[in-house]
Amino acid sequence: MKIDITAKTLPKNAAEAKITKIHKQIGDEVQSGDSLLELEANKASMPIISQARGTITALYVEAGQKVKADDPLCTIEGEEVLDASPKQSSTDDKPSLGYFAGMMKPQKKTVASDLCIIGAGPGGYVAAIKAAQLGCRVVLIEKEHVGGTCLNWGCIPTKCMVRSAEVYTTLQSAEDYGCFADYLRLDMRRVLQRKDEVVTQLRQGIEHLLSENGVTVLSGTAELVDRNTVLSKQSSSETTVTAKKLIIATGSRITNPPIPGAQLKQVINSDIALQLEALPVKMVVVGGGVVGMEFAFIFSSFGVNVSVVEYADQILSNCDPDICAEIYQIAIEKGIKIYRHAMVEAILPAQDDQCVVVFKQDDEVKYLATDMVLMSIGREPVIAGLGFEKLGIELNDNKKGIKVNEHMETSVPGIYAIGDVTNRMLLAHVASHQGIVAVRNIMGESCDMDYTAVPSAIFTEPEIGIVGLNEETARKKGYDITVGKFPVGANGKALAMGESRGFIKIIAEEKSGTILGAAIIGPHASDLIADLTLAVNRKLTLRDIYETIYAHPTTAEIIHEAALGAEGRSLHFVGS
Ligand code: FAD
Repeated sequence: MKIDITAKTLPKNAAEAKITKIHKQIGDEVQSGDSLLELEANKASMPIISQARGTITALYVEAGQKVKADDPLCTIEGEEVLDASPKQSSTDDKPSLGYFAGMMKPQKKTVASDLCIIGAGPGGYVAAIKAAQLGCRVVLIEKEHVGGTCLNWGCIPTKCMVRSAEVYTTLQSAEDYGCFADYLRLDMRRVLQRKDEVVTQLRQGIEHLLSENGVTVLSGTAELVDRNTVLSKQSSSETTVTAKKLIIATGSRITNPPIPGAQLKQVINSDIALQLEALPVKMVVVGGGVVGMEFAFIFSSFGVNVSVVEYADQILSNCDPDICAEIYQIAIEKGIKIYRHAMVEAILPAQDDQCVVVFKQDDEVKYLATDMVLMSIGREPVIAGLGFEKLGIELNDNKKGIKVNEHMETSVPGIYAIGDVTNRMLLAHVASHQGIVAVRNIMGESCDMDYTAVPSAIFTEPEIGIVGLNEETARKKGYDITVGKFPVGANGKALAMGESRGFIKIIAEEKSGTILGAAIIGPHASDLIADLTLAVNRKLTLRDIYETIYAHPTTAEIIHEAALGAEGRSLHFVGS
């Protein structure tokens, strides 16, 4: 039997730890309780104790390397021994909780609850708080860190990097504002440190909220046993959770693309892109979707020579075509090279530690030599190992993600699924809202998940905010529409800020003036879209907007002007 060894937890619950010692090599015999290797993080060290006897058949790490909790460390061919206790500790430092956990006999206990939630991302932890507020006894099981992908590897860390990129870019043009920033330089270690500080602060905040709301949080990997039972396993303990209802909120993970050469050391994913202390000279981003384009702008601002290879005809192809065209132009002007309608076929090793991205564009094979390739072509729902098959939980027709109805209930009554694992819209706020819908239904209220007014915020430079229908989709749905457009360059606040690129578009039904959708590219677009999300959600009209007073001078005035513009009555622009 092959047993893959991971750290499961890291010293002081750090996001990553350094391998300080390796005690066993490939071919070595090990007994349960042997120390295999040692990790260090936040000045605390921790041995990895074997819970198996057999032979080491693979070693995936070397001393000095940094690892995360579930990175594979080594493989043992042999048999598992669950009551492993360490034979010796080769560390003088204070042992961490993980160390003690290794010494204890596996403990088995049972916890009764009303609701058990698997996964503490923005879907799971928000559902847990909501349910607890409504009087439920909630158990939340998380195998890694509360906050999930969003807080630890997604929304928040990327936005910290976006902010560093903005500050760096602004300082480069400081003289335009009458300020002089001499000896300007970028320190990636500080950029990453700040990001980690923000993540840690928010993680502690969520832990505090869960505790204050009386949610029982279990650290472990959960597996469905039956409709009312979940098993949470840790190396040293097993907890059986009984529950009247279950929510699966296990999220998504990075897909390994079937591209030859994708395993080369120069090829990284978004998790690694968030930890780069040394920047490459050249980077190719494969995939011009939201995550790919955010990273393309971040690294370009940091001075990396970035190229994007995108399969579709346009980058950010889910956006309004006018927005796509504008951000494409801005990216090109910034120096980002974009290859559209281009399919990556292979990545080849090359001289001087470089690699070559081979892609086909319009039937022509092209080659891009680069130092690093950032793969940004998708994520897949986390369903393996959950045991959903034995309960008969159905998947979506494309076999990706768990199938749910409008109440977020799966094909098995009493079991709900929310967030990325449903593969509907891979956004944190969608996961949270689905969680609230699931909880309200669980608590006896009948409530449907409605996707009509889901905003998206894209943190390119400038930002993009979209909601509802665009011109094309509105017409396809048979609406007679009017479109109000207003350029950011005609807005006083935007000019004062030195950010004049972009525009707003409001799409409304011609006859009633009901707002169907909107798209903004420009400063503060990610915040401004909230106003129009409310409008689409509550079916407000152009008149509702233009009869509202907007503070001056603010970027929000573009919303007021675009609503007037849809009726040909813009005050500060001619020709909208
Ligand atoms: P997740 O956040 O993935 O959480 C699932 C949790 O379940 C994880 O913590 C996992 O450890 C745990 N888990 C899985 N299996 C088990 C098990 N068997 N037992 C116990 N625990 C388990 N979205 C936005 O809205 N805005 C953004 O700006 C944005 N930026 C992003 C940037 C990047 C680089 C990435 C990768 C994603 C970004 N996203 C963004 C997407 C967003 O992160 C996800 O949509 C969101 O995290 C989904 O939430 P979730 O709760 O469904 O799953």
